[in-house]
Amino acid sequence: MEKISFFSADFRDGRIRIGNKTYPAGTFAAHLLNQYYKNDTAARISAYVMNNWAVQKSLTKGYLNARLLKKTGEDILEILNALPKLKPFNQFDIESERQLISETFTEENGDYIVEYFRRKSFILAMDDGAIVNDLSPEYDEDLFNGAEELLSLIWQKLYFYDDISSQMREAFDGLIEFCNRLDEAERFDEPHLLPIALDIFGNEKLDITSEFVAMRKTAKSKTMVTARRMFFDNYYSFVLTDFFEGLHYGHYPRRCPICKRYFLMTSARRQVYCNGTAPYTLKGKPITCRKYAARMKEKELSEGNPINPIYKSRYSAIRVEQKRSTITAEFAAMARKVAKEYWQKAKYDDNYANGQYKADMKRENLYMETDRRLKQK
Ligand SMILES: [Zn+2]
Repeated sequence: MEKISFFSADFRDGRIRIGNKTYPAGTFAAHLLNQYYKNDTAARISAYVMNNWAVQKSLTKGYLNARLLKKTGEDILEILNALPKLKPFNQFDIESERQLISETFTEENGDYIVEYFRRKSFILAMDDGAIVNDLSPEYDEDLFNGAEELLSLIWQKLYFYDDISSQMREAFDGLIEFCNRLDEAERFDEPHLLPIALDIFGNEKLDITSEFVAMRKTAKSKTMVTARRMFFDNYYSFVLTDFFEGLHYGHYPRRCPICKRYFLMTSARRQVYCNGTAPYTLKGKPITCRKYAARMKEKELSEGNPINPIYKSRYSAIRVEQKRSTITAEFAAMARKVAKEYWQKAKYDDNYANGQYKADMKRENLYMETDRRLKQK
């Protein structure tokens, strides 16, 4: 079977370029995780494989139902309605593919192939049929060539659209498992994440061919750099390459516990929440998941742990002492600065908030540190 040259993408420095757009490697894996159930993308793509299978089965046996062929074409057109919701298919020329499908999967073409099958089986049924092929009155060179070409195109499309749903499913399941197992990693970097990824996806060989090409490092730069151009035979190879290339650069998908969407982490920091818009508002205004989480944590801390009251009372004590001239204005300003640092640290660091924070905020300790800093000046 002739391989489908599906599409190509350029890789360089942890970025992937398709057409004239570039993305951090790993973007498409994270996108699949979010898009799979959204708008029923996967369901709409996988719901139409039934007729496809029936046509494949009948073609293998050497017959065809022309109406079924047309029906399968209609199913593929349905898939083409959903496919552009999945990146990178949104960048493809869906309209010309749509046209090719409507022109190929017709009842007329079905009848044409049936006629070819009829003639061919007649010839094959004759004694020495294969040898006297072109002597038979049933043989028609144009008809045979045309039908064989048409069949090859039909097979190609049947395979592609049949596979795309199973490949989506396989990649999706694996990526979900990866996200669920993230916490097994001691650190979120390539050496710690790669074993999990390989355990899930194995050392499977992907259908890829590649070559080196020259490209501009950025859209504005004049110098050229080397990039790897990869050609993918199918969606699975593409999305897995994107995922592994991302891992190599420390990018990995993870799920935001607040909005439940997947996002691509591009640093080894243990960032848990995404930068997207949270499903909640704060005082009626939209807020990011990260900010929302920080606010919740603040609230939790101020309820369970008195970091705010400690800070507030220390702050007003400094003001009182300044008023009474027990301390200078310069000293008071530095003391407030130091106290604010401790308070901010306590907000983001639970261990500190529950331990050293209280001691640091005591008058004598705070003033000792203030004194030390003023002397450093
Ligand atoms: Zn989020």
